[in-house]
Amino acid sequence: MSAPALGAVLFLPMTTSTQPRLLLIAPHNSYRIAPYLKAAESLGAAVTIASAGEHSLISVISQGLHIDFSDPEQALSEILTAAEQTPFDAILGSDDMSVALAAAAAKALGLTHNPPEAALFARRKDLARACLQKAGVAVPVHSRIELHQSLSAQLEKLDYPCVLKPLAMSGSRGVIRVDDIESAQSAISRIMGILREVEDPDESDAILAESFIEGREVAYEGLLSGGELTTLAMFDKPDPLNGPFFEESYYISPSRLPHELQEKVKVTVAAACSAYDLKQGPVHAECRIDNDDKVWVLEVAARTIGGECARLVELATGQSLEKLVVAQLLGMQLPRIEFKGGAGVLMIPIPRAGILRRIEGTIEARAIPGVEELVISVRDGHELKPLPEGSSYLGFIYAVAESAEQVEQVLRAAHEKLNIVTAPIFKLQSVST
Ligand code: ADP
Repeated sequence: MSAPALGAVLFLPMTTSTQPRLLLIAPHNSYRIAPYLKAAESLGAAVTIASAGEHSLISVISQGLHIDFSDPEQALSEILTAAEQTPFDAILGSDDMSVALAAAAAKALGLTHNPPEAALFARRKDLARACLQKAGVAVPVHSRIELHQSLSAQLEKLDYPCVLKPLAMSGSRGVIRVDDIESAQSAISRIMGILREVEDPDESDAILAESFIEGREVAYEGLLSGGELTTLAMFDKPDPLNGPFFEESYYISPSRLPHELQEKVKVTVAAACSAYDLKQGPVHAECRIDNDDKVWVLEVAARTIGGECARLVELATGQSLEKLVVAQLLGMQLPRIEFKGGAGVLMIPIPRAGILRRIEGTIEARAIPGVEELVISVRDGHELKPLPEGSSYLGFIYAVAESAEQVEQVLRAAHEKLNIVTAPIFKLQSVST
């Protein structure tokens, strides 16, 4: 990460005296910056961006406040100095890495805030599980596997099937279901390979083991205001997610779960928010509903849903997720527009490892009625690495239709049209004679 401009000169955007002012703290390459800027502009708010992007080509970043995310104390002090010159009405962290700093800055400035410590729970799955369990929220039975201690003794104590995962990663990387000690041993070797890229020993010296919760899965998007949780959208994940790896694939709204179960999900997420002492702002959660209809929390974070899924909230509610978040933070009321039909996204899964040669059938897939957009985010020639080492998707297909069922059919039909052509990877190895 680039160093901050020490003693950076602030070029804050011109504002009128009544214009609300938002400080957005975001990594310079965050895809959330553009939608938040658009949202703030449509609400008549001025935005200052605090980021590490001193040399950014995007003027609102380069002319904003330059901070070093690796030195949170210094970053906080620069934000407080800037606020003395031009006070902020609200502070927002865009991603997991900036949420804690946003909370600390809002706290120091006496603005409504979440506890800065709560951000750690979004990152560290072991700490999150422990906090929620203590508060009586249903989370999988879990334990840490210490990688520097005897593995066989630890693996013998686990109940199988279970799920092994890194303590702090996202996008299902390194998440593996195992059914016995042998598969656990080989999964641990794979996860240790992935953990080689992790510098922080607190995050690479152990792996989390959890009971495998069999059942359906939903993603939940909500907004907290004064500790009150409002549901914005709930997405079903209609493909069975039984492992051994867990691709993010279909997200479809509105949820087809019975109303009482949707309420149960909301109540469970609300309990998790109060365990973390979250009071305001966006909430994203992933929950499993087991075969006895019990709701289990897999993840709760004080941010919006990742990737392109945020766009689905706009399709589902008629308002952009970022606009709802900014309006709520600035104390503005927005009319909720109920979306009558269904909306969904398929994160196009990587079918196999290889070099991407081409993706055939995109024209046919786009022509299917209901397909809103098809985006391929990797280029030909790119090395495709599936889960658990790599990432899970190639791009996205969005669809809208009259109902959630129809959206699912549209997405499946569009996916079937795609033919992902790959070439095998040959790696040269020197052989000593
Ligand atoms: P990440 O934060 O990397 O997405 P998660 O811990 O949320 O990792 O796990 C990714 C996916 O793996 C979940 O959405 C779910 O489908 C599956 N999964 C993870 N833990 C469990 C579990 N204990 N029981 C059943 N499925 C699980």
